[in-house]
Amino acid sequence: MAAEQDTFETLFSEARNSLGTSPKKADAALEKLKALQPTFTPEQNEKYQLSYAHSLGDRGRNEERIALVNSLIAQVKTPGRRASYLYELIDGYTALGRYEKALQAMNESILLLPAIEKPSQKIVVLQGALNLLRSLHAYDETMDLAERIYALRGDIVGSYAACVGLANKVEISFERGKEPLADSLVQDAVKACDANKNPFFALIIKSLAAIYLIDTGNYARGITASLPLTQEFVVLSPDSDYAVQLDEALARAYLKTGNTQRAEHFGLRAYQRAQSGRLLLLHEKTSETMAAIKHAQGQLEAAISYYDTNLTLKKKVLDDQVIKSLAYQRVKFETQDKANQLALLEQKNQNLRMEKTLQEHRYENLILLVTLGLIVLTSMGAWLVRTLRRMDAFRHSAQVDGLTQVSNRAYFTACVQQAFKDERHTQSLVLLDMDFFKHINDSYGHATGDWVLKAICEAIKTHLRKTDLFGRLGGEEFALCLTDLTPEEVLTLAERCRVAVLSIDTRPSGFEFTIAASFGIATRAVGESSRYEDLLAAADKALYVSKNTGRNRVSVYQPSNAGET
Ligand code: GH3
Ligand code: MG
Ligand code: MG
Repeated sequence: MAAEQDTFETLFSEARNSLGTSPKKADAALEKLKALQPTFTPEQNEKYQLSYAHSLGDRGRNEERIALVNSLIAQVKTPGRRASYLYELIDGYTALGRYEKALQAMNESILLLPAIEKPSQKIVVLQGALNLLRSLHAYDETMDLAERIYALRGDIVGSYAACVGLANKVEISFERGKEPLADSLVQDAVKACDANKNPFFALIIKSLAAIYLIDTGNYARGITASLPLTQEFVVLSPDSDYAVQLDEALARAYLKTGNTQRAEHFGLRAYQRAQSGRLLLLHEKTSETMAAIKHAQGQLEAAISYYDTNLTLKKKVLDDQVIKSLAYQRVKFETQDKANQLALLEQKNQNLRMEKTLQEHRYENLILLVTLGLIVLTSMGAWLVRTLRRMDAFRHSAQVDGLTQVSNRAYFTACVQQAFKDERHTQSLVLLDMDFFKHINDSYGHATGDWVLKAICEAIKTHLRKTDLFGRLGGEEFALCLTDLTPEEVLTLAERCRVAVLSIDTRPSGFEFTIAASFGIATRAVGESSRYEDLLAAADKALYVSKNTGRNRVSVYQPSNAGET
């Protein structure tokens, strides 16, 4: 018996340590454990089943994972243990895009919080909710949850809560991409995970920081930081998504610094791993990078083939993102009832404070109060669920333009109007209209015209930041909304886009001709309250000036004379 215990513990910790980092190893250990199943105690059996469910998820078999958990959960009453089962459900449903089910499981799990004592089990609940809300792009809420995990660190040096809390904060701010990724946060997070003897999390944090360097144009530093990390992945977690992400960033950095051979080495490795691992987002991203690499190498045919793959994948990704961000935006903006929102926020803070008191004193009567508060939170969850139900109805209104894959007019307008509500930022609109586009259609056919529209969108996109809005207003007319740029920067960017359009090599379309576009710019300074429609009309006037003064140029709207620069 003692020997069996030994084997169980050894194999089990081998399985658990490999879950998430090396699915194949975990799988092998679980397979060996399975042979011992007749000798399992009930507790061992539960540990085994949960790890097995998780490994099914790692291997993309989420339907089976959910079925397994659902067949077991009814008998599990202890709150902390139940939370572990719910975690598997949340994760599984999220992976399948069944957000409503995932939110239900999340609600139940959050309700268990006050009854759970162990910090490690609380982390399971909070991390489950965090993963789900992050996948819905509800970044502010996820940041709160990361803070709550971090708050569980206590006085223990090297606690798991400190490492996981900070690692989450790094990843959320990296993904949100709104403000710079703070060096101090990265350093604290690495320190906490080193102290927790958690090399995998430390590696993830360092990788995100290295990718961030590359994303912000620090190619040489990014390459220096990334190369040793790719080696660490080989040892720690060769199949990790993060390793693919790092390879892709390295490929881009090498491409930007002119080393197309190295770029191809990393780009192709990332592309193949993303493809075989069916990692949609990374597959999309790596196909675009490979297209750019092939283009730079002058292998146009291969470039076009990657480019085609990329367009198909982009459509999938955008569909998914539009659904998610709309679902979340509905939640945020549909209820203009600010008071209600504030009340919820206050309730949330109150819950936090109470839970802390509860931990310190364990006053029984407080449990009642906290439960009451949680019921309010749950109704917020139900509200989310209702909203998600309506998701399908909004799908159509939220469409991306089918031909060019940039925002369509309705979605672009909605986003810009939202941005315009905030007067603390400079807003600029850049309108562009193709020159003599009718002539292109007439001379080379409509299909070539379509090809041109796609090509110019691709060309312009490479000059935009993540946060810039780009939409097709109709026909061959497009618009950009740029926040926080000076008029000079907007002019430079528009000029760059003009040149990019002019430089498009049209030979892949089967014909050789020149493409050009005319641009008009209008800017609203900080504190000004002009509406989107007014600024659009101003940009249109400037565009008219460009058209009337020879086309293929950029004009800036000036209130006095609407003159050209
Ligand atoms: P200008 O320089 O004055 O802008 O001349 P233009 O020829 O570009 O402008 P005009 O408005 O006369 O023609 C625009 C053409 O764009 C007419 C229309 O057939 C074509 N067009 C609109 N949408 C599409 C589309 O989705 N695909 C293709 N191929 N052509 C389109
Ligand atoms: Mg035109
Ligand atoms: Mg036009």
